[in-house]
Amino acid sequence: MAKRLQVCRNCKRFTTEKSCHTCKSTNLSTSWKGLVIITDESSEIAKTLNITEKGKYALYVG
Ligand SMILES: [Zn+2]
Repeated sequence: MAKRLQVCRNCKRFTTEKSCHTCKSTNLSTSWKGLVIITDESSEIAKTLNITEKGKYALYVG
């Protein structure tokens, strides 16, 4: 059985577990849109999204 991909409402990272790996938050959502992969935390897109670490993020979390 495939685990459901969820997004942390706190830091917008993806997880398939019951809590976020990064910030340990359990405030997760299965309602998300868009996916952005940040490879350079000093890029314009990272600044716009307030992201300070490389990784995979959701653009919108419901
Ligand atoms: Zn998180």
